[in-house]
Order: sequence, then C-alpha cells, then structure tokens
Amino acid sequence: MTTHFQFCPRCAQPLIDAHRGDAWRRVCSQEACGYIHWNNPTPVVAAIVEHEGAVILAHNRSWPGHWYGLITGFLERDESPESGVLREVEEELALRGEVRAFVGHYTFPAMNQLIIAYHVVAEGTITLNEELDDYKRIPPAKLQPWPAATGEAVADWLRRQGIRREP
Ligand SMILES: [Zn+2]
Repeated sequence: MTTHFQFCPRCAQPLIDAHRGDAWRRVCSQEACGYIHWNNPTPVVAAIVEHEGAVILAHNRSWPGHWYGLITGFLERDESPESGVLREVEEELALRGEVRAFVGHYTFPAMNQLIIAYHVVAEGTITLNEELDDYKRIPPAKLQPWPAATGEAVADWLRRQGIRREP
C-alpha cells in the first residue's frame, strides 16, 4: 500500500509525484522546502506462540471468519523487538512468554510492513483481549502455512522443526 499523503507535513503545501535521482518520489511541490515522503516500511513484530505443545493462531475481530493468524503488533518508542513481541503476547493472550528464537524478517508489501518474527514459548491461561474474538490450538504437525509474510515465517519455523510445508 502506498500511503498517499496529500500535503507536506513540513510546510503544508501539496505533495506531488516527481522524478528524483533514480526513482519517482512523493515530494513537496515547494522546491525550497525539499521534503520527501520516503514511505519507509513499518516494522511489525509477530509471534509464533507455542503453548502446551500447540501453536496458537488468533482471530482478529476485524478479519473475515476463516482467517487466523499470528500475534502481531507495532513497537512502542525505544522498545526492542524482543520486548515488543512479548508485550503483545501478554496483551493479546494474557500469557507470559519467553523468546525461544528469532525466526526471520519478511517483507509484507501490501501493508508496507517489515514483519520481524519470533518463536515465543508461553505459559498461563489464555484470555483474549478486545482485539481478538477467537483462537485455535494447532499441533505443529498440522500447521499449514499461508501465502503471506507471517505464513512464510511459519513455513521457516516448521522447516527448522523438521516439518517441510510450503505456504
Ligand atoms: Zn514542504
């Protein structure tokens, strides 16, 4: 997704698409201002949560009925990805987790995000927060990766568990 801001956040003049250097950029129409909207990807942490031997996939209230996914979230200012992913697991599932491994980072062009995925082993009793309305417990041997950034993370993680399954 290309975020199309209409106005310059620095001087409030309209932004335009212009060729700069080697690429088209969204820039301020006021040349003296010089603002360039880089549209850098947003980092998003994702947890493959292992709880009592199963992987927890959760359903967000705003998603279509059959979509279940990893626990994900944005980082807070100055927060490390490891702390952020554990905070998200605690906020969304009410589980205390521990980062077992970094799985990888994955580009998610449709959302202009960079997914930073971890294997988190968690314990406690699952209580969903208000963002989620359902979850599934899936044994790793039955987990089927899906074709998206977080699904690639699941496929990589499964491969490391000796389970080969393509998204
Ligand atoms: Zn400007």
